[in-house]
Amino acid sequence: MIASPSKSSYDVVVIGGGPAGTTAATLLQRQGHRCLVLESSTFPRYHIGESLIPHTHDTFDHLGLLPKLRASHFPVKHSVRFIPPSGKDATPFYFSETIEGERATTWQVERGEFDQLCQDNARDAGVEIRSATKVNNVIFDDEGAVGVRAQSDGQQSEDIAARVVIDASGRATIIGQQLNLKTDVPGLDKASIWTYYEGGHRGTGIDAGETTVFMIPHRGWFWYIPLANDMVSVGVVASPEYLFRDSNRYEDVFPREVEQCEALSSWLADAGPLGPLRGLRRLAYLNRQVVGNGWVMVGDAAGFLDPIYSSGLFLALASGELAAQCIHDALEADDVSAERLGKFVPLLWEGIEVIHRLIRAFYDPSFSFHKFAQRFPEQRAALIDCLVGDVVGKDMTAFLNSLAEMTPAPQPLHAETESLTRRAV
Ligand SMILES: Cc1cc2nc3c(=O)[nH]c(=O)nc-3n(C[C@H](O)[C@H](O)[C@H](O)COP(=O)(O)OP(=O)(O)OC[C@H]3O[C@@H](n4cnc5c(N)ncnc54)[C@H](O)[C@@H]3O)c2cc1C
Repeated sequence: MIASPSKSSYDVVVIGGGPAGTTAATLLQRQGHRCLVLESSTFPRYHIGESLIPHTHDTFDHLGLLPKLRASHFPVKHSVRFIPPSGKDATPFYFSETIEGERATTWQVERGEFDQLCQDNARDAGVEIRSATKVNNVIFDDEGAVGVRAQSDGQQSEDIAARVVIDASGRATIIGQQLNLKTDVPGLDKASIWTYYEGGHRGTGIDAGETTVFMIPHRGWFWYIPLANDMVSVGVVASPEYLFRDSNRYEDVFPREVEQCEALSSWLADAGPLGPLRGLRRLAYLNRQVVGNGWVMVGDAAGFLDPIYSSGLFLALASGELAAQCIHDALEADDVSAERLGKFVPLLWEGIEVIHRLIRAFYDPSFSFHKFAQRFPEQRAALIDCLVGDVVGKDMTAFLNSLAEMTPAPQPLHAETESLTRRAV
């Protein structure tokens, strides 16, 4: 029970003001629900994850963000290219192969600026946003979540009542930690180290905004993401055993890997390093349950698999939007049960499972996109569908069957997606 309820109570309280949280809050506020976003940091704040994929377009449209993105200085992205360990050039996957017009493009975004844009848009829609306010825990009664306990910098903690609590706290996963729902993803243990450069190689024409993936031995890889102001984001992802085989220090490991990847180092020959080296020693995690009575997880709060296909922001936006639709229905029906709130879960997680299958294929040493496209030319379009994020609510059976002929299908992330909403809390 809420111990000392604050004077205010809300229809929806959102933990975390990143892209997932502000998407859900903006759409719900516009439908007449009173929303409060509690964000522990003060924006603009640094965040990793700069490369968007095209299927974010509709959510940007619904949020009203497209004019701002079109007017921004974010480089326009038309393609992704996978350079093999030999350094041999490879043909990019252009999104225009399967999509027409502006929808075949997206942006490479510096996150401090992009997340601020999303937050300002939420505020313009009427969402109340409190920065420098950390949620310590979610408050539950016998029925389910009924609010949060939060603390603004320099203030006493306060209990805030809500009909629905959205956990959009990213990797912090407040509800996942509190209810002990967070688990590793067996077999998907990758680490990452990244930094920024100024003055690195830039492609020309529509290739100027391309994401380039440089593959390295042992199924590791680098991302190379061109940003505004002549900056480029460069990061390495590989198993911790491979990355930290000689040293645990990012300062030893990152330059060693850049030097060994000749194709990448030639792109950085005239570049100057910017900013610190940052890293994470374990990227992937999941929650055993993502919806309960009175609560919903969206974006990274629900789980994160791997950055290889730049699906993180897409899933943050898509889950924020899908959850908002269900929360709206639930509030209108005055029924915030897990069953009602979680109606979007099977559709979303079937899409995530397709991405999961392709991630596992990427890390299988016997698999290559080139060989797959040669053997199954009729599946090239479906492969591009995955790369653009067109996997939610789409029948990908034929593609997955072809994939299974070249790489074994892994254990699904969840035996039954319904179990994600079916537990006691
Ligand atoms: C190495 C790496 C590379 C990546 N590259 C890409 C990429 O190229 N493209 C891509 O799309 N994705 C990428 N991602 C994933 C992407 O960063 C995330 O998927 C995305 O940021 C998720 O958005 P979100 O809104 O769910 O969470 P976040 O953006 O993390 O927002 C969560 C917010 O919650 C706040 N918060 C946390 N705890 C609390 C609390 N207790 N109280 C109040 N507020 C709190 C945080 O301050 C934060 O602002 C990458 C991830 C990693 C690890």
